[in-house]
Amino acid sequence: MCGIFGVVGVEQAAELTYLGLYALQHRGQESAGIVSVDADGHASVRRDMGLVSEIFPPKVLRQLPGSIAIGHTRYSTTGSSVLANAQPAVVNYHHGALTLAHNGNLTNAQALRDDLVRKGSIFQSSSDSEVLIHLIARSEAREPEDQILDALERVEGAYTLLLSIGTTVYAIVDPRGFRPLVLGKLGDGWVLASETCALDIVGATRVRELEPGEWLKIEDGKVVDLPPLKARPHRRCVFELIYFSRPDSTVFGQSVDRVRRELGRQLAREQPAPGADCVFSVPDSSNAMALGYAEESGIALEHGLIRNHYVGRTFINPGQNSRTAKVRIKFNPVRDVIAGKRVVVVDDSIVRGTTSRSLMQMIRQAGAREVHMRVASHPITGPCLYGIDTPRHDELIAATHSVEEIRQHLGVDSLGYLSLEGMLTAAGSTERFCHACFSGDYPTEVPQDQHKSRSATGEHVTALID
Ligand code: AMP
Repeated sequence: MCGIFGVVGVEQAAELTYLGLYALQHRGQESAGIVSVDADGHASVRRDMGLVSEIFPPKVLRQLPGSIAIGHTRYSTTGSSVLANAQPAVVNYHHGALTLAHNGNLTNAQALRDDLVRKGSIFQSSSDSEVLIHLIARSEAREPEDQILDALERVEGAYTLLLSIGTTVYAIVDPRGFRPLVLGKLGDGWVLASETCALDIVGATRVRELEPGEWLKIEDGKVVDLPPLKARPHRRCVFELIYFSRPDSTVFGQSVDRVRRELGRQLAREQPAPGADCVFSVPDSSNAMALGYAEESGIALEHGLIRNHYVGRTFINPGQNSRTAKVRIKFNPVRDVIAGKRVVVVDDSIVRGTTSRSLMQMIRQAGAREVHMRVASHPITGPCLYGIDTPRHDELIAATHSVEEIRQHLGVDSLGYLSLEGMLTAAGSTERFCHACFSGDYPTEVPQDQHKSRSATGEHVTALID
């Protein structure tokens, strides 16, 4: 998963991009990067593994001059977690420095890459995004825009892109529109971001979201709309609204908070828990869903679990590597709320079932009389091919177990999920979303072998990071 952010036509663009990436940190915590471009089209880059706050101290930001900047936060969904795969990618290309930040996953990247390698391309990373750069650079068209179009016509899957060539910046959303991108205004300049929460942090005002298939360029301070890409049925990722985006963002034209509340209300209608004493969320992504559940059911909303906000993905506790230990470090039960009560626990999703199992045990140990788990989405039965880091099919508990088997595995008194239709209706449409991970209805061709070995993806080199 990734977050992307760009600034055009504002002094100290890199500093604003740093703030924007900070607001998008939830979209990727593995690596981050900023490329700045000065008035002569010269690009400067800083990329590293780790969190945004660790990678860009003031001294580094001062070394990223210019009024154009593009930033990226990454959590790997293709290619491994190494510095070579950190983005934005920046290369010397015959029309100047070319910078690329990609959110999404190309489903035909492997086939394209094999072809390019046969023709002599040398890849520096194992990420699918590098394929795009090679396709642009090798295009026989003359003008950069035609070269970009050539490349886009060959790729399949999810790509929301920020691209700069010299001092022109392009923003592109694939025809199905899996991943969001919003355009904002800041003074005389422009801002582009995965989510509106990143516009808020820099004080930009929202102009509009890019539609599926839309691409535009910003040149000489002006936004120029380019002819839309070949139309396809829209397939916005419903999981952006359920789990991934921040609740204070507006995504796909909807308030994420409002959608989550409605998912919670729908859950209360479909999966009631009569006689329960209280309802609480697994913080933070399901807070609004628990609120909706409480509103609809009339069951009292409580804070039954407290989350430690200082635990990142990278937290390592030597000797305590079990899932239960990790859950204990991340969540604490509020005993006073739980002891002796019949509790409803609302979570946004169950993926592997491992975190949920440990959490439910913890809630029981805190003295709950009954535990009723409610999930504000449909069972996840397939991997995401479009940029969310859901695991492989055989690791998804709902792919191989019935709801009753999952209930037993979690050790809860009852378990209820949302229906597919209820979930989509609550999210605002049964038509315009991609719900492949819930339904198996993949809107693109599914690549033959989704789980390539490292050598098959061309990864023969391991870069060590100190
Ligand atoms: P588990 O019980 O191990 O399947 O974990 C369920 C938890 O994972 C839920 O609280 C979700 O909010 C969270 N979750 C859902 N999707 C993802 C994802 N792609 N990456 C990390 N956590 C996720």
